[in-house]
Amino acid sequence: MDSVNEEKDNIFVCDGLVKIYKTKDVEVMALQGLDLEIKRGELLAIIGKSGSGKSTLLNMLGGLEKPTAGRLYADGRDLFAMNEKGLVEYRKNTVGFVWQNSAQNLFPYFTAVQNVEAPLYFDNMSEKKRRERAMHLLHLTGIDHKADSYPAQMSGGEQQRVAIAVALAHEPKILLADEPTGAVDTKTSNMIQDLFRKINQETGLTIIIVTHDISLANKVSRVIMISDGKISTEKIMKEEFRQKLDSLTTENLAQVESHEEYSVLDKAGRVQLSGETLELAGIDTNKVKVEVEDGKIIISK
Ligand code: ADP
Ligand code: MG
Repeated sequence: MDSVNEEKDNIFVCDGLVKIYKTKDVEVMALQGLDLEIKRGELLAIIGKSGSGKSTLLNMLGGLEKPTAGRLYADGRDLFAMNEKGLVEYRKNTVGFVWQNSAQNLFPYFTAVQNVEAPLYFDNMSEKKRRERAMHLLHLTGIDHKADSYPAQMSGGEQQRVAIAVALAHEPKILLADEPTGAVDTKTSNMIQDLFRKINQETGLTIIIVTHDISLANKVSRVIMISDGKISTEKIMKEEFRQKLDSLTTENLAQVESHEEYSVLDKAGRVQLSGETLELAGIDTNKVKVEVEDGKIIISK
């Protein structure tokens, strides 16, 4: 940690995270020195193509995957310096997970309310308290009317509402969702996005959502884009847009310039430029001229 302040404001600090997967004959570098800070109470979307390292990062934030190099501070602690007991405790109480496939999130032979109660069985809690907590969470996620239904009796979107309630059972500080809307239609997907936003606003929970769908990310205050295991660009929602957000419909949402896009400048002074940007500027060589003019940096052939 650089300062006490940083420790307080940031729930996550990723410092040069590297992950190498070794299989029999190939090595894959899923994260290539990733730096990222996430503030407490943030609602953040992570986007990027398939294979760019999104799930690897999310699993690392959840304490499920150890980095090959680099450090990860979570909730003020050096996560992978903790012993196994500490990590288990962290996975159980500090983070909640929602996966893409609702079958991965729910027990098929339990009703909705029993699914939410399941993580609480080994806690020291009366049956009545457990039921109350589960019903409260199903109410929060807007699915309490299906409390006694089994997953097979619910739509994909309804199942994901239950899954979110399950993830919240232990009152985590952080909710991690890996492509939670990957298996539902656009309308349902929008509803789930709105639900994440509501939970974030009402409870102040830090929520991190991985998605490959760029259009889904436009209601979120910060969107980071991963490419090749590093963060390449970051989009921050414009304040004027944030104020209008609730009055916009999904149709006109797409037509408004919601975010300002920034390229990430890393500690070594590197900026990653997208292929699109280079093409627009007509740069097709591997050497560029860099000049400073009127306080601006100009990159040219
Ligand atoms: P994303 O979620 O963005 O699609 P992943 O984080 O799942 O990307 O994967 C990043 C890269 O790491 C991919 O090339 C993937 O094939 C590889 N990878 C992920 N998990 C493993 C694993 N357990 N073993 C080997 N390679 C893996
Ligand atoms: Mg993935």
